[in-house]
Amino acid sequence: MTRVLKVDPLFPDEKVLKEAAELLRNGEVIIFPTETVYGIGADAYNEEACKKIFKLKERPADNPLIVHIHSFKQLEEIAEGYEPHLDFLKKFWPGPLTVIFRKKSEKIPPVVTADLPTVAVRMPAHPVALKLIELFGHPIAAPSANISGRPSATNVKHVIEDFMGKVKLIIDAGDTPFGLESTIVDLTKEKPVLLRPGPVEVERLKELFPELVVPDFVRKGNFKGRPLAPGMKYRHYAPLKPLILVEDLTKMEEVLKKYPDHVVICVEERKELYDDRIVVGSLKNPYSIAQNIFSALREAEKMGKEYIIVEGFEERGILFAVMNRLRKAATEIVR
Ligand code: AMP
Ligand code: MG
Repeated sequence: MTRVLKVDPLFPDEKVLKEAAELLRNGEVIIFPTETVYGIGADAYNEEACKKIFKLKERPADNPLIVHIHSFKQLEEIAEGYEPHLDFLKKFWPGPLTVIFRKKSEKIPPVVTADLPTVAVRMPAHPVALKLIELFGHPIAAPSANISGRPSATNVKHVIEDFMGKVKLIIDAGDTPFGLESTIVDLTKEKPVLLRPGPVEVERLKELFPELVVPDFVRKGNFKGRPLAPGMKYRHYAPLKPLILVEDLTKMEEVLKKYPDHVVICVEERKELYDDRIVVGSLKNPYSIAQNIFSALREAEKMGKEYIIVEGFEERGILFAVMNRLRKAATEIVR
């Protein structure tokens, strides 16, 4: 049986978090909010518990998990080579930034890192996530709380679609503030490498790391060939219907005609152009687009239309991260 317990996102009831921590101690998997998306988490030091995450998510074993910590002391337990980057980390943590370091601890079982010698670490800012990790005492390994390949869950309605009856506890703190997964930067290479764009914008990272490498795959769609980062060979964030991403909006009319049975995901500013549409947000507030994009994808697939068409955006700020997700989710990209 799954219990869904509501908490206040800013002042969560500690009783609920203590109960969650107790479940983690017993090797259970639970679902909790972070400032990016909902996470499905287990004790990062418990191999059997972490294996359950892969099973529940149907996640391929070669796609490693992010380890969530609440203090720099916990970072010291699991990572190596972070010392020169402490100033950088302190700027962004707690927050929506994941950093790859060399793995230190034998405490982190190989299943968490998919046998890699490196570990992905994040200190989340969401009061529920941060307090939960603190009360629990160990780091929590947690990927996004969605069945592998599906759009990430940004509210508990989505979580329930994918996991009702499969986990003991879901902590509901409402919508996740950013609605997009964390930015991932690999600091184990000669130069820092952006593995996934997210709420910490590339522009900001480049101010601190002018030498930041932004690999081609970050801008590409479905990847075919040898994966350069774990997980990138799979279709991600995908709705159950074909998704056509129209990057060149001058071609929209053509696309609408080619796929007449459609729903369009669009911005407020262009909504008058379409009969069947879902408004994802406004260009005046690009964060609104990020926050709603996954729920728009989940809503669109339920509209009874054959095709989902989505407007593309200029790759700036948070919209760079939105475009990264849409390209991975798309079955066709119109440029
Ligand atoms: P999710 O939380 O579902 O977005 O998945 C975690 C992401 O972190 C995946 O895209 C992984 O590829 C990435 N990741 C986790 N560990 C590592 C690592 N050691 N090296 C590179 N990427 C990683
Ligand atoms: Mg994910």
